[in-house]
Amino acid sequence: MFDVLDQWLRRSAERIHAAAPELTALDQAIGDGDHGTNMNRGFNAIVAQLDAGTPAADSDRALAGTVLRTAGRTLISTVGGAAGPLYGTAFMRGGGAILAADAGLSPAEVLLGGLEAAITGIAGLGKATTGEKTMLDALIPALMAGRAAHTAGGDVAAVVNAMADAADAGAASTIPMLATKGRASYLGERSIGHQDPGATSSALLLRTLADVVTAA
Ligand code: ADP
Ligand code: MG
Repeated sequence: MFDVLDQWLRRSAERIHAAAPELTALDQAIGDGDHGTNMNRGFNAIVAQLDAGTPAADSDRALAGTVLRTAGRTLISTVGGAAGPLYGTAFMRGGGAILAADAGLSPAEVLLGGLEAAITGIAGLGKATTGEKTMLDALIPALMAGRAAHTAGGDVAAVVNAMADAADAGAASTIPMLATKGRASYLGERSIGHQDPGATSSALLLRTLADVVTAA
C-alpha cells in the first residue's frame, strides 16, 4: 500500500505541476489566481519529504497512514489559502482512517474509508456540501460511485476508476453552479459559467490515483 501511496503522491506532484497554469487560470476567473501555484508548492514539499526518507512503521498500512498524515501537515503549512487547510485536513483524516482501519478490510474498503474520512474533514472545516461549487462537488460523487462499484463486486481498480470518472463529471458539473462558499462566492452570479479550481484539482488527484492503481 505504501508503494501505491508513494507513486500517487509523486505522480500527482508531476501532474499538478503540469496543470498549474490551467488551475491558476480557473482560479483567475473566479478567485485570486493562486490555486495552481499553491498546489504546486505543496506537492513539491511533499516530494521533498518523501525523498528525505520514510519513518519506521509496524506494517505497510501503518507506513502508508503515517506518510499520508505527514503529507497533510505539509499541505497545511505550505499551500496556504483555503485549499491548504482543506486538502491538508483531508490528507490527515485519510491517513488517520488508514491507521485505524481493521486489518481484515480489503484495499478497496480501506480506500473508501479513507476518502470518506477526508470528505468529512473537508465538509466540517469548510462548512460546505455538494452544489456549492467546491472540491466537494468532485469528491462526494466520487465516494458514491466508488461505493457503488464496490457493492457491485468491483475490485480496487474498478472502485478507483469509478471514483475518477465521477470526479471528472463532478468537476464539470460545477460550471453552471453559483458559488456559495469561499472566495468565488464574493462574485455572486458572476461565478456561474466557470469550472471550480478545487474541484478540478480534486479530480486530477483521483484520476492520478486510478492510473497508479490500475498500473500496479
Ligand atoms: P483561496 O480561495 O483562498 O485563494 P485556493 O485558490 O487555493 O484558495 O483554493 C480555492 C478552492 O478551495 C476552491 O476552488 C474550492 O474548491 C475550495 N474551497 C474554498 N472554500 C471552500 C469551502 N468552504 N469548502 C470546501 N471547499 C472550498
Ligand atoms: Mg485562490
